[in-house]
Amino acid sequence: MLTIRTYGDPVLKQATKEVEEIDGRVKKLVEDMLETMYAAPGVGLAANQVGVQRRLFVYDIGDGPQVVINPRITETSGEWAFEEGCLSVPDLHWTIVRPNEVHLTGLDLEGNEVSIDAKEYQGRVFQHEVDHLDGVLLLERLDEEQRRDALKVLRSRVLGG
Ligand code: ZN
Repeated sequence: MLTIRTYGDPVLKQATKEVEEIDGRVKKLVEDMLETMYAAPGVGLAANQVGVQRRLFVYDIGDGPQVVINPRITETSGEWAFEEGCLSVPDLHWTIVRPNEVHLTGLDLEGNEVSIDAKEYQGRVFQHEVDHLDGVLLLERLDEEQRRDALKVLRSRVLGG
């Protein structure tokens, strides 16, 4: 089991590096990330959330475990408001507006190309995880008022232990 890094950990603000070779280490990492995600429990987990600066994430939105290596969102359209949370910012949720539909490309664990049109919940998970891999937390997607409240809570957590 891996430790999920939380808000304040600098690793969450760093963009990850592309995976050059899908070797045994990557496969082991994916296995450990899935175990960690299910235990949390969560529906998605990016590698830098467990302190590894590699561009990959795992997810399961009810169809079994999936992994996308070197994911990129190449197109977005529409708009969708959805209540979103994050394992790295535990116990807080906000209604966030993001594009509804996205096109995601990347590789699977066998190195095959992945090309997925996703919308609504799946599209949201992809945007959230790709953000992580770019060093972006959902806090940066909040409106001004949400953000002010969020930072107040998070600051008191850090100070109050
Ligand atoms: Zn997250």
